[in-house]
Amino acid sequence: MIAAETRTYRLGEFHRFDGGQRKFLYLVPAGAIFELDHAASAVIDQLADGEATHEELVERLSERGFTFDDASELVEEMFLSRAIVAPDQPPESVANPPAGFPLMSLVMNLTNQCNLSCTYCYEFGADKVATPEGKPKFMDVETARASVDFLLEQSAGRRSVHITFFGGETLMNFPLLKEVVAYATQQAAEQGRSVDFSLTTNATLLTPAIIQFLSDNRIGVTVSMDGPPEFHDKLRVFSNGRGSYDIIAPKVKALIQGHRTRPIVARVTLTNGVTDVIRIYRHLKDELGFHEVGFAPVTTAPDRLYSINEQGMGGVFEQFCALAEEYLEYALRGEMHGFTNVSDTIAELYQGVNKSHPCGAGLGLVGVGPSGDIAPCHRFVDSDTHSLGHISTGLDRSKQGDFLARGHVGAKYECQTCWARPLCAGGCHHEAFVRYGDTGHANIHYCDWIRGWTDTCLRIFGTISALNPDFLEKFAERKAL
Ligand code: SF4
Ligand code: SF4
Repeated sequence: MIAAETRTYRLGEFHRFDGGQRKFLYLVPAGAIFELDHAASAVIDQLADGEATHEELVERLSERGFTFDDASELVEEMFLSRAIVAPDQPPESVANPPAGFPLMSLVMNLTNQCNLSCTYCYEFGADKVATPEGKPKFMDVETARASVDFLLEQSAGRRSVHITFFGGETLMNFPLLKEVVAYATQQAAEQGRSVDFSLTTNATLLTPAIIQFLSDNRIGVTVSMDGPPEFHDKLRVFSNGRGSYDIIAPKVKALIQGHRTRPIVARVTLTNGVTDVIRIYRHLKDELGFHEVGFAPVTTAPDRLYSINEQGMGGVFEQFCALAEEYLEYALRGEMHGFTNVSDTIAELYQGVNKSHPCGAGLGLVGVGPSGDIAPCHRFVDSDTHSLGHISTGLDRSKQGDFLARGHVGAKYECQTCWARPLCAGGCHHEAFVRYGDTGHANIHYCDWIRGWTDTCLRIFGTISALNPDFLEKFAERKAL
Protein backbone atom coordinates (compact mmCIF):
# COMPACT_ATOMS: atom_id res chain seq x y z
CA MET A 1 0.00 0.00 0.00
CA ILE A 2 1.27 3.47 -0.90
CA ALA A 3 1.79 5.78 2.10
CA ALA A 4 -0.84 8.53 2.21
CA GLU A 5 1.72 11.33 1.96
CA THR A 6 2.99 10.14 -1.42
CA ARG A 7 -0.39 9.46 -3.01
CA THR A 8 -1.89 11.33 -5.95
CA TYR A 9 -5.69 11.52 -6.14
CA ARG A 10 -8.47 11.98 -8.65
CA LEU A 11 -12.22 12.09 -8.21
CA GLY A 12 -13.95 8.79 -7.50
CA GLU A 13 -17.16 7.64 -9.15
CA PHE A 14 -20.11 9.48 -7.66
CA HIS A 15 -23.28 11.39 -8.40
CA ARG A 16 -23.72 14.79 -6.74
CA PHE A 17 -27.05 15.87 -5.33
CA ASP A 18 -28.43 18.52 -2.98
CA GLY A 19 -31.08 18.30 -0.30
CA GLY A 20 -32.15 20.57 2.57
CA GLN A 21 -29.48 23.07 1.46
CA ARG A 22 -26.75 20.51 2.00
CA LYS A 23 -24.56 18.85 -0.57
CA PHE A 24 -24.12 15.10 -0.91
CA LEU A 25 -22.29 12.55 -3.00
CA TYR A 26 -23.84 9.23 -3.93
CA LEU A 27 -20.77 7.00 -3.92
CA VAL A 28 -21.36 4.50 -6.68
CA PRO A 29 -18.96 1.63 -5.91
CA ALA A 30 -20.32 1.48 -2.35
CA GLY A 31 -23.94 2.56 -2.90
CA ALA A 32 -23.37 4.91 0.04
CA ILE A 33 -24.19 8.57 0.71
CA PHE A 34 -21.48 11.02 1.79
CA GLU A 35 -22.37 14.48 3.06
CA LEU A 36 -20.06 17.21 1.84
CA ASP A 37 -19.18 19.88 4.35
CA HIS A 38 -17.14 22.93 3.27
CA ALA A 39 -13.84 21.14 3.69
CA ALA A 40 -14.86 18.04 1.74
CA SER A 41 -16.33 20.30 -0.96
CA ALA A 42 -12.96 22.05 -1.20
CA VAL A 43 -11.24 18.71 -1.81
CA ILE A 44 -13.75 17.82 -4.52
CA ASP A 45 -13.38 21.28 -6.15
CA GLN A 46 -9.62 20.99 -6.10
CA LEU A 47 -9.81 17.74 -8.04
CA ALA A 48 -12.49 18.92 -10.49
CA ASP A 49 -9.86 19.81 -13.11
CA GLY A 50 -7.59 16.82 -12.67
CA GLU A 51 -5.28 15.16 -10.20
CA ALA A 52 -3.65 16.54 -7.04
CA THR A 53 -1.20 15.17 -4.53
CA HIS A 54 -1.92 14.51 -0.89
CA GLU A 55 0.29 17.45 0.00
CA GLU A 56 -1.59 19.83 -2.30
CA LEU A 57 -4.94 18.82 -0.87
CA VAL A 58 -3.74 19.21 2.72
CA GLU A 59 -2.28 22.59 1.88
CA ARG A 60 -5.58 23.74 0.37
CA LEU A 61 -7.39 22.72 3.54
CA SER A 62 -4.77 24.42 5.73
CA GLU A 63 -5.56 27.68 3.92
CA ARG A 64 -9.13 27.21 5.19
CA GLY A 65 -7.93 26.99 8.80
CA PHE A 66 -7.55 23.21 9.16
CA THR A 67 -4.67 21.84 11.20
CA PHE A 68 -2.31 19.56 9.31
CA ASP A 69 -3.57 16.47 11.21
CA ASP A 70 -7.29 17.25 10.63
CA ALA A 71 -6.69 17.95 6.93
CA SER A 72 -4.73 14.74 6.52
CA GLU A 73 -7.45 12.78 8.31
CA LEU A 74 -10.19 14.20 6.08
CA VAL A 75 -8.30 13.37 2.89
CA GLU A 76 -7.73 9.84 4.18
CA GLU A 77 -11.41 9.48 5.09
CA MET A 78 -12.45 10.58 1.59
CA PHE A 79 -9.96 8.15 0.09
CA LEU A 80 -11.26 5.24 2.17
CA SER A 81 -14.85 6.04 1.21
CA ARG A 82 -13.71 6.23 -2.45
CA ALA A 83 -15.01 9.77 -2.94
CA ILE A 84 -11.45 10.30 -4.17
CA VAL A 85 -9.24 7.55 -5.53
CA ALA A 86 -5.68 6.96 -6.69
CA PRO A 87 -5.37 7.24 -10.50
CA ASP A 88 -4.26 3.65 -10.94
CA GLN A 89 -6.72 2.19 -8.46
CA PRO A 90 -8.70 -0.62 -10.11
CA PRO A 91 -12.48 -0.16 -10.23
CA GLU A 92 -14.27 -1.96 -7.42
CA SER A 93 -16.76 -4.58 -8.54
CA VAL A 94 -19.80 -5.64 -6.57
CA ALA A 95 -19.15 -8.92 -4.82
CA ASN A 96 -21.19 -11.98 -5.68
CA PRO A 97 -23.49 -13.20 -2.96
CA PRO A 98 -21.87 -16.22 -1.26
CA ALA A 99 -22.43 -19.58 -2.96
CA GLY A 100 -25.34 -21.45 -1.37
CA PHE A 101 -26.96 -18.15 -0.40
CA PRO A 102 -29.98 -19.15 1.74
CA LEU A 103 -33.51 -18.59 0.51
CA MET A 104 -35.66 -15.96 2.21
CA SER A 105 -38.88 -15.97 0.24
CA LEU A 106 -40.97 -18.33 -1.78
CA VAL A 107 -43.64 -17.17 -4.21
CA MET A 108 -46.22 -19.91 -4.51
CA ASN A 109 -48.39 -19.74 -7.63
CA LEU A 110 -51.40 -21.62 -6.27
CA THR A 111 -53.01 -21.70 -9.71
CA ASN A 112 -52.25 -20.52 -13.20
CA GLN A 113 -55.97 -19.90 -13.83
CA CYS A 114 -57.57 -16.47 -13.68
CA ASN A 115 -61.17 -15.25 -13.79
CA LEU A 116 -60.12 -12.00 -15.51
CA SER A 117 -58.62 -11.54 -18.96
CA CYS A 118 -56.50 -8.42 -18.51
CA THR A 119 -55.16 -7.51 -21.91
CA TYR A 120 -51.64 -6.79 -20.68
CA CYS A 121 -51.24 -9.87 -18.47
CA TYR A 122 -47.68 -11.21 -18.59
CA GLU A 123 -49.02 -14.66 -17.81
CA PHE A 124 -51.65 -14.94 -20.54
CA GLY A 125 -51.02 -11.96 -22.85
CA ALA A 126 -48.96 -11.66 -26.01
CA ASP A 127 -45.67 -11.41 -24.12
CA LYS A 128 -46.14 -14.49 -21.98
CA VAL A 129 -43.11 -16.67 -21.25
CA ALA A 130 -45.08 -19.48 -19.58
CA THR A 131 -45.58 -22.85 -21.27
CA PRO A 132 -48.34 -24.31 -19.08
CA GLU A 133 -49.58 -26.85 -21.65
CA GLY A 134 -50.01 -30.28 -20.10
CA LYS A 135 -49.23 -29.05 -16.59
CA PRO A 136 -51.66 -28.92 -13.63
CA LYS A 137 -53.82 -25.80 -13.44
CA PHE A 138 -54.06 -25.87 -9.66
CA MET A 139 -51.34 -26.71 -7.16
CA ASP A 140 -52.17 -29.75 -4.99
CA VAL A 141 -51.58 -30.08 -1.29
CA GLU A 142 -48.56 -32.43 -1.64
CA THR A 143 -46.75 -29.96 -3.91
CA ALA A 144 -47.62 -27.10 -1.57
CA ARG A 145 -46.31 -28.95 1.50
CA ALA A 146 -43.16 -30.00 -0.34
CA SER A 147 -42.65 -26.33 -1.28
CA VAL A 148 -42.92 -25.26 2.36
CA ASP A 149 -40.44 -27.99 3.39
CA PHE A 150 -38.11 -26.86 0.60
CA LEU A 151 -38.25 -23.25 1.78
CA LEU A 152 -37.54 -24.17 5.39
CA GLU A 153 -34.63 -26.43 4.40
CA GLN A 154 -33.10 -23.96 1.97
CA SER A 155 -33.39 -21.04 4.39
CA ALA A 156 -31.62 -22.74 7.29
CA GLY A 157 -30.07 -20.13 9.53
CA ARG A 158 -32.81 -17.56 8.94
CA ARG A 159 -35.18 -17.08 11.86
CA SER A 160 -38.00 -15.85 9.73
CA VAL A 161 -39.02 -16.56 6.14
CA HIS A 162 -41.71 -15.29 3.81
CA ILE A 163 -44.32 -16.92 1.58
CA THR A 164 -46.18 -14.90 -1.04
CA PHE A 165 -49.27 -16.43 -2.61
CA PHE A 166 -49.74 -15.66 -6.25
CA GLY A 167 -51.64 -16.81 -9.35
CA GLY A 168 -53.33 -16.68 -11.88
CA GLU A 169 -55.89 -15.40 -9.46
CA THR A 170 -54.63 -16.53 -6.07
CA LEU A 171 -58.04 -16.75 -4.41
CA MET A 172 -59.25 -19.30 -6.97
CA ASN A 173 -57.33 -21.75 -4.79
CA PHE A 174 -58.16 -20.30 -1.38
CA PRO A 175 -58.66 -23.74 0.30
CA LEU A 176 -55.02 -24.54 -0.45
CA LEU A 177 -53.88 -21.13 0.80
CA LYS A 178 -55.49 -21.91 4.18
CA GLU A 179 -53.80 -25.30 4.33
CA VAL A 180 -50.41 -23.78 3.55
CA VAL A 181 -50.77 -21.11 6.23
CA ALA A 182 -51.56 -23.77 8.85
CA TYR A 183 -48.85 -26.19 7.70
CA ALA A 184 -46.07 -23.63 7.26
CA THR A 185 -46.83 -21.95 10.60
CA GLN A 186 -46.71 -25.27 12.41
CA GLN A 187 -43.55 -26.54 10.68
CA ALA A 188 -41.72 -23.29 11.31
CA ALA A 189 -42.82 -23.17 14.96
CA GLU A 190 -41.46 -26.69 15.50
CA GLN A 191 -38.08 -25.32 14.41
CA GLY A 192 -38.41 -22.22 16.61
CA ARG A 193 -38.86 -20.07 13.50
CA SER A 194 -41.64 -18.00 11.95
CA VAL A 195 -43.28 -17.48 8.56
CA ASP A 196 -44.79 -14.28 7.33
CA PHE A 197 -47.39 -14.35 4.53
CA SER A 198 -48.67 -12.05 1.81
CA LEU A 199 -50.78 -12.43 -1.30
CA THR A 200 -51.57 -10.61 -4.50
CA THR A 201 -55.15 -10.71 -5.76
CA ASN A 202 -57.48 -9.07 -8.25
CA ALA A 203 -60.03 -8.81 -5.37
CA THR A 204 -62.96 -10.25 -7.39
CA LEU A 205 -63.33 -13.27 -5.09
CA LEU A 206 -62.93 -11.60 -1.70
CA THR A 207 -65.66 -12.50 0.80
CA PRO A 208 -66.16 -11.49 4.45
CA ALA A 209 -64.88 -14.91 5.55
CA ILE A 210 -61.72 -14.61 3.43
CA ILE A 211 -61.10 -11.08 4.71
CA GLN A 212 -61.47 -12.32 8.28
CA PHE A 213 -58.99 -15.13 7.63
CA LEU A 214 -56.46 -12.76 6.06
CA SER A 215 -56.75 -10.38 8.98
CA ASP A 216 -56.60 -13.11 11.65
CA ASN A 217 -53.42 -14.50 10.08
CA ARG A 218 -51.77 -11.14 9.46
CA ILE A 219 -51.49 -11.81 5.73
CA GLY A 220 -50.32 -8.78 3.77
CA VAL A 221 -52.55 -8.04 0.76
CA THR A 222 -51.66 -6.36 -2.51
CA VAL A 223 -54.59 -5.68 -4.83
CA SER A 224 -53.93 -5.26 -8.55
CA MET A 225 -56.05 -2.26 -9.41
CA ASP A 226 -55.54 0.48 -11.97
CA GLY A 227 -57.53 3.39 -10.50
CA PRO A 228 -61.05 4.76 -11.04
CA PRO A 229 -63.36 2.93 -13.51
CA GLU A 230 -62.36 5.00 -16.54
CA PHE A 231 -58.81 3.65 -16.16
CA HIS A 232 -59.29 0.34 -14.38
CA ASP A 233 -61.91 -0.95 -16.82
CA LYS A 234 -59.82 -0.26 -19.90
CA LEU A 235 -57.79 -3.42 -19.59
CA ARG A 236 -58.77 -5.21 -16.36
CA VAL A 237 -61.75 -7.00 -17.84
CA PHE A 238 -63.64 -10.29 -17.65
CA SER A 239 -63.50 -12.59 -20.67
CA ASN A 240 -66.69 -10.98 -22.05
CA GLY A 241 -64.91 -7.62 -22.09
CA ARG A 242 -66.80 -6.21 -19.10
CA GLY A 243 -64.73 -4.13 -16.70
CA SER A 244 -64.14 -5.44 -13.18
CA TYR A 245 -64.22 -2.15 -11.25
CA ASP A 246 -67.85 -2.37 -10.06
CA ILE A 247 -67.31 -5.89 -8.75
CA ILE A 248 -64.12 -5.15 -6.86
CA ALA A 249 -64.65 -1.63 -5.48
CA PRO A 250 -67.07 -2.70 -2.67
CA LYS A 251 -64.91 -5.73 -1.89
CA VAL A 252 -61.81 -3.57 -1.64
CA LYS A 253 -63.58 -1.21 0.75
CA ALA A 254 -64.67 -4.18 2.89
CA LEU A 255 -61.08 -5.49 2.83
CA ILE A 256 -59.62 -2.19 3.97
CA GLN A 257 -62.23 -1.87 6.68
CA GLY A 258 -62.08 -5.48 7.87
CA HIS A 259 -58.35 -6.26 7.60
CA ARG A 260 -56.66 -4.26 10.30
CA THR A 261 -53.49 -6.19 10.95
CA ARG A 262 -51.42 -5.27 7.88
CA PRO A 263 -51.33 -2.35 5.43
CA ILE A 264 -53.37 -2.95 2.27
CA VAL A 265 -51.52 -1.97 -0.89
CA ALA A 266 -52.73 -1.18 -4.41
CA ARG A 267 -50.47 -2.10 -7.28
CA VAL A 268 -51.14 -0.16 -10.46
CA THR A 269 -49.99 -1.18 -13.93
CA LEU A 270 -49.52 1.91 -16.09
CA THR A 271 -50.36 1.48 -19.77
CA ASN A 272 -50.97 3.68 -22.79
CA GLY A 273 -53.81 6.00 -21.70
CA VAL A 274 -53.57 4.92 -18.07
CA THR A 275 -50.83 7.33 -17.04
CA ASP A 276 -52.70 9.87 -14.91
CA VAL A 277 -50.67 8.95 -11.85
CA ILE A 278 -51.99 11.66 -9.55
CA ARG A 279 -55.65 11.05 -10.34
CA ILE A 280 -55.15 7.31 -9.86
CA TYR A 281 -53.28 7.85 -6.60
CA ARG A 282 -55.98 10.17 -5.21
CA HIS A 283 -58.70 7.70 -6.07
CA LEU A 284 -57.00 4.66 -4.60
CA LYS A 285 -55.52 6.36 -1.53
CA ASP A 286 -58.06 9.01 -0.62
CA GLU A 287 -61.34 7.71 -2.06
CA LEU A 288 -60.94 3.95 -1.53
CA GLY A 289 -58.59 4.12 1.46
CA PHE A 290 -55.59 1.97 0.44
CA HIS A 291 -52.67 2.47 2.80
CA GLU A 292 -50.14 2.51 -0.01
CA VAL A 293 -50.18 2.74 -3.80
CA GLY A 294 -47.33 1.55 -6.01
CA PHE A 295 -47.00 2.03 -9.76
CA ALA A 296 -45.16 0.12 -12.46
CA PRO A 297 -45.24 0.66 -16.22
CA VAL A 298 -46.48 -2.41 -18.08
CA THR A 299 -43.85 -4.95 -19.05
CA THR A 300 -44.19 -5.44 -22.77
CA ALA A 301 -42.57 -5.50 -26.15
CA PRO A 302 -42.47 -1.86 -27.37
CA ASP A 303 -44.91 -2.29 -30.26
CA ARG A 304 -47.99 -3.38 -28.27
CA LEU A 305 -50.94 -1.00 -28.32
CA TYR A 306 -50.96 -0.71 -24.54
CA SER A 307 -47.23 0.05 -24.19
CA ILE A 308 -46.39 3.59 -23.09
CA ASN A 309 -44.36 5.68 -25.51
CA GLU A 310 -41.55 8.06 -24.58
CA GLN A 311 -43.86 11.03 -24.29
CA GLY A 312 -46.18 9.05 -22.04
CA MET A 313 -43.26 8.03 -19.81
CA GLY A 314 -42.23 11.70 -19.65
CA GLY A 315 -45.67 12.56 -18.30
CA VAL A 316 -45.46 9.71 -15.79
CA PHE A 317 -42.10 11.06 -14.64
CA GLU A 318 -43.48 14.55 -14.06
CA GLN A 319 -46.36 13.19 -12.03
CA PHE A 320 -44.06 10.89 -10.05
CA CYS A 321 -41.96 13.95 -9.17
CA ALA A 322 -45.03 15.96 -8.12
CA LEU A 323 -46.19 13.13 -5.84
CA ALA A 324 -42.64 12.78 -4.52
CA GLU A 325 -42.71 16.48 -3.51
CA GLU A 326 -45.90 15.81 -1.61
CA TYR A 327 -44.21 12.81 0.00
CA LEU A 328 -41.42 15.09 1.16
CA GLU A 329 -43.85 17.57 2.71
CA TYR A 330 -45.45 14.71 4.65
CA ALA A 331 -42.07 13.36 5.74
CA LEU A 332 -40.91 16.74 7.03
CA ARG A 333 -44.06 16.81 9.20
CA GLY A 334 -43.23 13.28 10.38
CA GLU A 335 -46.15 11.74 8.48
CA MET A 336 -46.01 8.72 6.22
CA HIS A 337 -47.21 9.29 2.65
CA GLY A 338 -48.61 6.34 0.71
CA PHE A 339 -46.54 6.55 -2.49
CA THR A 340 -44.82 3.16 -2.44
CA ASN A 341 -42.29 3.96 -5.17
CA VAL A 342 -40.63 6.61 -2.99
CA SER A 343 -40.78 4.55 0.21
CA ASP A 344 -39.14 1.56 -1.47
CA THR A 345 -36.26 3.63 -2.82
CA ILE A 346 -35.76 5.53 0.45
CA ALA A 347 -35.61 2.18 2.25
CA GLU A 348 -32.91 0.96 -0.14
CA LEU A 349 -30.91 4.16 0.29
CA TYR A 350 -31.25 4.05 4.07
CA GLN A 351 -30.10 0.44 4.14
CA GLY A 352 -27.15 1.24 1.85
CA VAL A 353 -28.21 -1.29 -0.77
CA ASN A 354 -25.56 -2.02 -3.38
CA LYS A 355 -27.02 -4.64 -5.68
CA SER A 356 -25.18 -7.36 -7.51
CA HIS A 357 -28.56 -8.32 -9.04
CA PRO A 358 -31.64 -6.19 -9.68
CA CYS A 359 -33.85 -8.22 -7.32
CA GLY A 360 -33.91 -11.40 -5.30
CA ALA A 361 -35.08 -13.60 -8.19
CA GLY A 362 -33.18 -16.90 -8.20
CA LEU A 363 -31.16 -15.71 -5.24
CA GLY A 364 -33.07 -15.17 -1.97
CA LEU A 365 -36.37 -15.77 -3.73
CA VAL A 366 -37.80 -18.39 -6.05
CA GLY A 367 -41.24 -19.05 -7.49
CA VAL A 368 -42.97 -22.43 -7.50
CA GLY A 369 -45.68 -23.20 -10.04
CA PRO A 370 -48.71 -25.48 -9.69
CA SER A 371 -46.68 -28.33 -11.21
CA GLY A 372 -43.89 -27.94 -8.65
CA ASP A 373 -41.51 -26.41 -11.19
CA ILE A 374 -39.12 -23.96 -9.56
CA ALA A 375 -38.63 -20.62 -11.36
CA PRO A 376 -36.51 -17.54 -10.62
CA CYS A 377 -39.68 -15.66 -9.60
CA HIS A 378 -43.46 -15.70 -10.05
CA ARG A 379 -43.21 -14.21 -13.56
CA PHE A 380 -41.19 -17.13 -14.88
CA VAL A 381 -43.36 -19.81 -13.31
CA ASP A 382 -44.48 -22.56 -15.72
CA SER A 383 -41.84 -21.57 -18.27
CA ASP A 384 -39.78 -24.56 -19.40
CA THR A 385 -37.03 -22.30 -20.70
CA HIS A 386 -36.51 -20.65 -17.32
CA SER A 387 -37.09 -23.57 -14.97
CA LEU A 388 -34.51 -23.83 -12.16
CA GLY A 389 -35.51 -27.33 -11.09
CA HIS A 390 -38.46 -29.08 -9.49
CA ILE A 391 -39.69 -29.13 -5.93
CA SER A 392 -39.23 -32.94 -5.78
CA THR A 393 -35.58 -32.79 -6.83
CA GLY A 394 -34.58 -29.33 -5.63
CA LEU A 395 -32.77 -26.44 -7.22
CA ASP A 396 -30.65 -27.18 -10.26
CA ARG A 397 -27.52 -25.36 -9.10
CA SER A 398 -26.04 -25.17 -12.55
CA LYS A 399 -29.14 -23.49 -14.04
CA GLN A 400 -29.36 -21.20 -11.05
CA GLY A 401 -25.67 -20.32 -11.45
CA ASP A 402 -26.16 -19.54 -15.13
CA PHE A 403 -29.20 -17.33 -14.44
CA LEU A 404 -27.34 -15.42 -11.73
CA ALA A 405 -24.14 -15.05 -13.76
CA ARG A 406 -26.10 -13.51 -16.65
CA GLY A 407 -28.07 -11.22 -14.37
CA HIS A 408 -25.06 -9.93 -12.40
CA VAL A 409 -24.63 -6.20 -12.86
CA GLY A 410 -20.96 -6.77 -13.69
CA ALA A 411 -22.02 -8.71 -16.79
CA LYS A 412 -24.05 -5.81 -18.22
CA TYR A 413 -21.85 -3.65 -20.38
CA GLU A 414 -24.04 -0.52 -20.38
CA CYS A 415 -24.30 -0.46 -16.59
CA GLN A 416 -20.54 -0.25 -15.92
CA THR A 417 -20.44 3.52 -16.27
CA CYS A 418 -23.90 4.27 -14.86
CA TRP A 419 -24.14 5.92 -11.45
CA ALA A 420 -27.59 4.43 -10.80
CA ARG A 421 -26.36 0.84 -10.89
CA PRO A 422 -26.24 0.21 -7.10
CA LEU A 423 -30.05 0.40 -7.08
CA CYS A 424 -30.98 -0.55 -10.64
CA ALA A 425 -28.40 -3.23 -11.49
CA GLY A 426 -29.84 -3.47 -14.98
CA GLY A 427 -33.53 -3.82 -14.07
CA CYS A 428 -36.01 -6.69 -14.00
CA HIS A 429 -34.82 -10.00 -15.53
CA HIS A 430 -38.32 -10.73 -16.81
CA GLU A 431 -38.65 -7.37 -18.52
CA ALA A 432 -35.21 -7.88 -20.07
CA PHE A 433 -36.34 -11.21 -21.48
CA VAL A 434 -39.58 -9.75 -22.90
CA ARG A 435 -37.72 -6.79 -24.46
CA TYR A 436 -34.42 -8.31 -25.52
CA GLY A 437 -34.86 -12.08 -25.33
CA ASP A 438 -32.18 -12.37 -22.64
CA THR A 439 -32.71 -12.19 -18.87
CA GLY A 440 -29.18 -10.81 -18.55
CA HIS A 441 -29.67 -7.83 -20.88
CA ALA A 442 -29.69 -4.38 -19.27
CA ASN A 443 -33.07 -2.67 -19.61
CA ILE A 444 -31.57 0.18 -21.56
CA HIS A 445 -34.94 1.45 -22.84
CA TYR A 446 -35.50 3.32 -19.58
CA CYS A 447 -32.06 4.36 -18.32
CA ASP A 448 -32.67 8.13 -18.43
CA TRP A 449 -35.97 7.63 -16.67
CA ILE A 450 -34.37 5.50 -13.94
CA ARG A 451 -31.51 7.94 -13.41
CA GLY A 452 -33.95 10.87 -13.22
CA TRP A 453 -36.12 9.06 -10.71
CA THR A 454 -33.15 7.92 -8.62
CA ASP A 455 -31.88 11.50 -8.52
CA THR A 456 -35.31 12.68 -7.30
CA CYS A 457 -35.33 10.06 -4.54
CA LEU A 458 -31.76 10.96 -3.54
CA ARG A 459 -32.77 14.60 -3.20
CA ILE A 460 -35.75 13.65 -1.07
CA PHE A 461 -33.57 11.39 1.04
CA GLY A 462 -30.99 14.14 1.48
CA THR A 463 -33.62 16.71 2.43
CA ILE A 464 -35.19 14.40 5.00
CA SER A 465 -31.80 13.48 6.43
CA ALA A 466 -30.96 17.19 6.79
CA LEU A 467 -34.29 18.40 8.19
CA ASN A 468 -36.00 15.45 9.89
CA PRO A 469 -33.46 12.63 10.21
CA ASP A 470 -35.46 10.64 12.79
CA PHE A 471 -38.10 9.99 10.13
CA LEU A 472 -35.65 7.76 8.27
CA GLU A 473 -35.59 5.25 11.11
CA LYS A 474 -38.96 4.01 9.85
CA PHE A 475 -37.07 2.46 6.94
CA ALA A 476 -34.69 0.26 8.92
CA GLU A 477 -36.88 -2.82 8.52
CA ARG A 478 -38.85 -2.10 5.39
CA LYS A 479 -38.39 -4.42 2.47
CA ALA A 480 -39.34 -3.36 -1.03
CA LEU A 481 -42.85 -4.62 -1.79
S1 SF4 B 1 -30.08 -0.48 -16.89
FE1 SF4 B 1 -29.59 1.63 -17.38
S2 SF4 B 1 -30.18 2.80 -15.55
FE2 SF4 B 1 -30.04 0.67 -14.95
S3 SF4 B 1 -27.94 0.44 -14.14
FE3 SF4 B 1 -27.93 -0.19 -16.31
S4 SF4 B 1 -27.34 1.64 -17.45
FE4 SF4 B 1 -28.02 2.30 -15.38
S1 SF4 C 1 -38.02 -7.54 -10.61
FE1 SF4 C 1 -38.62 -8.88 -12.32
S2 SF4 C 1 -37.31 -10.68 -12.16
FE2 SF4 C 1 -37.23 -9.60 -10.22
S3 SF4 C 1 -38.79 -10.59 -8.91
FE3 SF4 C 1 -39.75 -8.81 -9.91
S4 SF4 C 1 -40.68 -9.62 -11.76
FE4 SF4 C 1 -39.20 -11.16 -11.06
